[in-house]
Amino acid sequence: MTLLQAVRQEAQFVAMEIRVRGRVQGVGFRPTVWRIARELGLAGEVLNDCEGVLARVGGSPGAVEDFIARLEREPPPLARIDEIEVRAFDGALPSEFRIAESLAGDAHTEVAPDAAICAACAQEIVDPFQRRFRYPFANCTHCGPRLSIVKGIPYDRANTTMSPFAMCEACEGEYRNPADRRFHAEAIACHVCGPRARLIRLDGRATSFDRHSTLDEVDAVRGLITKGEIVAIKGLGGFHLACDATNAEVVARLRRLKRRDAKPFALMARDLDVIRRYCTVGAEEERTLVSAAAPIVLLAADKAERLPDEVAPGLATLGFMLPTTPLHLLILARMEPVVMTSGNVSEEPQVIDDDAARARLGEIATYALMHDRKIANRVDDSVARVMAGRARILRRARGFAPAPIALPPGFENSPELLAMGGELKATFCLVKDGEAILSQHQGDLENVETFDDYRKNLALYAELFHHAPRALVADRHPEYLSAKLAREWAQAQPLPLIDAQHHHAHVAACLAENNIPLDAPPALGIVLDGLGWGDDGTVWGGEFLLADYRHFERLGAFKPVAMPGGAQAVREPWRNLYAHLMAEMGWAEFSMNFAELELFADLLRRPRATLDAMVRAGVNSPKASSCGRLFDAVAAALNLCRERQAYEGEAAARLEAIVDLDAMSRDDEESAYPFAIPNLRDTCLLHIEPLAMWRALLGDLVLKTPAPLMAARFHKGLAKIIVAMTRKLAHREDGGGARFDTIALSGGCFQNRILFEEIVRLLEQDNFTVLSHAQVPANDAGLALGQAAIGAAHLIDGGAKNRYAGRTKG
Ligand SMILES: [Zn+2]
Ligand SMILES: [Zn+2]
Repeated sequence: MTLLQAVRQEAQFVAMEIRVRGRVQGVGFRPTVWRIARELGLAGEVLNDCEGVLARVGGSPGAVEDFIARLEREPPPLARIDEIEVRAFDGALPSEFRIAESLAGDAHTEVAPDAAICAACAQEIVDPFQRRFRYPFANCTHCGPRLSIVKGIPYDRANTTMSPFAMCEACEGEYRNPADRRFHAEAIACHVCGPRARLIRLDGRATSFDRHSTLDEVDAVRGLITKGEIVAIKGLGGFHLACDATNAEVVARLRRLKRRDAKPFALMARDLDVIRRYCTVGAEEERTLVSAAAPIVLLAADKAERLPDEVAPGLATLGFMLPTTPLHLLILARMEPVVMTSGNVSEEPQVIDDDAARARLGEIATYALMHDRKIANRVDDSVARVMAGRARILRRARGFAPAPIALPPGFENSPELLAMGGELKATFCLVKDGEAILSQHQGDLENVETFDDYRKNLALYAELFHHAPRALVADRHPEYLSAKLAREWAQAQPLPLIDAQHHHAHVAACLAENNIPLDAPPALGIVLDGLGWGDDGTVWGGEFLLADYRHFERLGAFKPVAMPGGAQAVREPWRNLYAHLMAEMGWAEFSMNFAELELFADLLRRPRATLDAMVRAGVNSPKASSCGRLFDAVAAALNLCRERQAYEGEAAARLEAIVDLDAMSRDDEESAYPFAIPNLRDTCLLHIEPLAMWRALLGDLVLKTPAPLMAARFHKGLAKIIVAMTRKLAHREDGGGARFDTIALSGGCFQNRILFEEIVRLLEQDNFTVLSHAQVPANDAGLALGQAAIGAAHLIDGGAKNRYAGRTKG
């Protein structure tokens, strides 16, 4: 503004060129500029170009100053201003302010994330005097579908699934009027010209609901749900299956038919008041629920009013979201909370196609609320949880993708590259113009349809973002389908392939999202997850890595324990429990001291000889230094989830759910199980040794200590030893200063709120700077971002052609 003030001294008329960067395209930014400029009586124009929005304004110095201040103060709801640059302009200006055509052929409007219905549209659909009264597909520049309907670029109606709907005269008028909220809203529609909802029976029979008793098809859905039916609903980014969440019988039926034994169902409630009957909603949780992204938010279900246990078996949290579209808002009006779970069978991806819905969902739901706007791209509901005071995204899809994430200082000139992500909860990540574009959650690639979808999305993103990678980055795991595909492509193109170690990528993702510069000193990455390919031929999953974007050094780990049966040991927690007890105390000590336990009787009848032989011979029994597997073993010992995990992380989630919070807040010696930190004999690597914990825990079982107290002791002990390990590693052996002062926390185990908050609290008590995930998941969905940063660092250094080499100590 100094330039402006200087000019102000000498002129009555100034002309300025104002460049705005950030998320400013496809979100109604130009009309906002137009409106403000007109209100202030400025001359000039505004346009989109490849850098964002460019405004040229002329008027009195005071008015121009006001203009800039108001742009900063009142951007449209979906916009995000990263930077405003002002310079003098000496060209000609149109005297009447106008919206100009976009500059240059390659300028295109960015695809924004889908956004939940805005307050203005929500008001219109309940107002009988508005022409969109009760219209299920109302939207405007501030809300509605984006990524879920786009088929190509540029982002305009012709390239979306709205193309078959010719605008009526009234809609066209709004679309062309810069003063209207729907100026250039590509998905604009109304009763006359837009998509319609219709209720069908999935078994092919004619619908027989009583039309006289209902206002319309959307009302009929409400009636059906209330009567105990399961209804398939075609939503924004996919089909949902909906039923009355207060009706235990129908929720159990949905579980049976969907073949989903235990994974919690998402819920939708008409407003915050309904949610508050079941859950505590803090300020940050409320802010997240009502945001334009409107994710599912995991909330403590600690109120007197309860939903049936079938909704989220064995958990103390419920995942609620608010209505995301007018369709959902109309259905939910005056209703009790409904289960709103993804429309699929078991582990398949969410159905997006009408025919697939008939074929796949017909056995689950008799009725389906369909509509004739196609879903171009599957975009699942996002999931968030507030931990340590901030909302953390656990699943990043609807409402967040494909918004770019700025890369930290030092990455500005990275060549374009593509990081292929992991295997479970897969995503991929494009690097372009100093930004990372992380795809929406794709799911588990071992599912054939998910992998097809992943490949389709790779092609879509390449087109949407004009992306031509100069290199590929993949995980080092030989069997990950994403890594195999990367190797295929790298060979066929050909392109250099950079491989990133799994846990190094986790740390890099955490550094990148916290804007840690490329050349910053290394931080200690504490990565706690299930399994990832280690650099020493074993499986890693509880790692202490001194790392920057370029290198890492493995300083410590959890004690490696065999997983008898490999993948089977992941599904069946008792196998991990047995392997842990044998690795620690052996059968002799266990049977001598703990023969009275139910656990002893249980393990006695298992095929121990076979497992022992497998572990001894190293057959299908990889050693894993995994924190996730330790959680499984402890949950199995407490008999919370011993036979089989119905979903990844179930055992750990159940263990977290029962923690005695009072015990957790105490700080005496009794309150935590003991662990030790010896050196691993063969590698000299410091490791977390759980033998003392197991003795104490089994002793507690003998004493019939309440399980919630034991769960608290385990969480507390684990947090304490992790921080003790950190302190030990920070201390230089040569007596110099601390080796690091920044800690980056990553890995799926940090979705455990109790473990995460306790570790953060203890580390901050020790004056460490703690970095953690918020906009990118801590789990494997964040891997692609870390891979992208590692790959970019490598290319910026102009490094060797093919291989990125990390170091492993010992
Ligand atoms: Zn709207
Ligand atoms: Zn219309």
